[in-house]
Amino acid sequence: MRLRLRGGNGAGPAPPRDSRDRAEARMLRLIRRHVRDRRVLDAMRAVPRDAFVPPGLRHQAFEDGALPIGRGQTISQPLIVAMMTEAAALDGDERVLEVGTGSGYQAAVLAYLAREVVTVERVGALRRGARATLRRLGVHNARCLSAGPVLGAPGDGPFDAIVVTAAAPEVPEALVRQLADRGRLVIPVGRRTQQELLLVTRRGERLRRRSLGGCRFVPLLGPGGFSEEDGGSS
Ligand code: SAH
Repeated sequence: MRLRLRGGNGAGPAPPRDSRDRAEARMLRLIRRHVRDRRVLDAMRAVPRDAFVPPGLRHQAFEDGALPIGRGQTISQPLIVAMMTEAAALDGDERVLEVGTGSGYQAAVLAYLAREVVTVERVGALRRGARATLRRLGVHNARCLSAGPVLGAPGDGPFDAIVVTAAAPEVPEALVRQLADRGRLVIPVGRRTQQELLLVTRRGERLRRRSLGGCRFVPLLGPGGFSEEDGGSS
């Protein structure tokens, strides 16, 4: 994927010019302490997080926290975005599914590293906002779809990697079925308020699970997720 706003393969970060650039450089330094994969670091540098944050919160765009994006949803913490992307182990030729488009930020990072990204979102207003942002940044290899009756994008699989950016009570069977052999599923699993980030790798019919640590995501709603009683909808 070629982004419009950042060039420089291997050019290194531009020298800080103002407080925005200094804040971004600080965010990237923090990520570098936890994430080794060079390509993931390049992607985090290439995608401007402030383009995905509501205008009133742009001054906080490079702090390492989740931020509200409307409809009770959040853009994920940048370090978690980088860790999930690293766990997806992308080489450039993959087809990737993201569940939970939100602002489109994680989708843009994935699209920088993979051949094609399909991302699904249940809230129409967020989907439309993410589509507009991705288009504006020149991200042409990510498609934002509305969430259908089956979790994920069953008609578009199988996927080499699936990244779920909302928390599920269990590893959803529907997503395992959309995972290619040797595919990676990165998903927060646990209770509504606290979860464990899991990397699930498929080998034939066998699944290997590895924990990447504790985390806190908004709930995945509907089939394979939590009940919708206090979630928004499209
Ligand atoms: N990846 C996003 C963060 C998204 S927050 C970003 O980078 O900004 C999680 C998103 O998952 C929310 O927007 C929520 O509406 C969406 N979501 C929840 N349940 C879903 C489901 N079953 N299918 C698709 N999207 C879902």
